[in-house]
Amino acid sequence: MGVLNDPSLGSLIANAKWPEDGNPGHTIKINLSFTLLNDQRTYIMAHEIGHTLGFRHTDWDQNGESISKFVPNSNSTSDGANLVPGTWSDDPLSIMNSASYNSFYPSWQDFSYTDYLAIRTTYPLSLSEKPLYTYQTVSTGGGNYTTDFSVYEYSNNGMIYKGWGGYIYDTQVSGSIPIYKYYSPLSTWYVISTDPGIHINFPGWEFVEILGYAFSSSGPNRIPIYEFYNPSKGFYHSSNFNEDQALGTGWVNNGIKFYTMELL
Ligand SMILES: [Zn+2]
Repeated sequence: MGVLNDPSLGSLIANAKWPEDGNPGHTIKINLSFTLLNDQRTYIMAHEIGHTLGFRHTDWDQNGESISKFVPNSNSTSDGANLVPGTWSDDPLSIMNSASYNSFYPSWQDFSYTDYLAIRTTYPLSLSEKPLYTYQTVSTGGGNYTTDFSVYEYSNNGMIYKGWGGYIYDTQVSGSIPIYKYYSPLSTWYVISTDPGIHINFPGWEFVEILGYAFSSSGPNRIPIYEFYNPSKGFYHSSNFNEDQALGTGWVNNGIKFYTMELL
């Protein structure tokens, strides 16, 4: 990759080439006629490298950019702005916001949590890893989970997307155990568990699927997943120890049930 000084950029501080033919963009141009703080320089370079990897502005819509803008090797107007599954188009802390939108631009310190999800979803550490996407069932207030974002998207089939609880695996990796998903047609509750026999031992529960594989013990880069229970709403699993406060009254923290890989 080449990094060039280009004062002819005028009011632009920098720009970058999009990926082409399966490779990252090959050039970043910097307008050295701007005087910037060190933190701003770091922000600009991280941001431009993001463009060379194919990331558009998180705030492209708020920033008034057209969908088709910047699409390389394409005349299409329909495929130029793809939201990375599980991320949001409004994230004030995102490195990929246009400079005017990022409130941390003058003193940028780190990628946002959603930036990390976007990067790792586009360029996974392992093809077997999947985010544990977390949903809340509108009708009951209880939780539901999938590793396939296309199932419920942001709000499909009575589910509201709430975020993700680390990563689990499609295939069993060393030290991991299955995470089973169950459904109760009577209560319309979902639950996930390391117990393989809930549908055998508890009347009314049906086995749905093995959601993936996670860990039964703590370890490097692992985060705990807590189970919350509400007798009138069901179960909810979260990496947030204080999730019961966000869920409202009547929830009890049943403690750590398994561990997932953290997002970093
Ligand atoms: Zn940009």
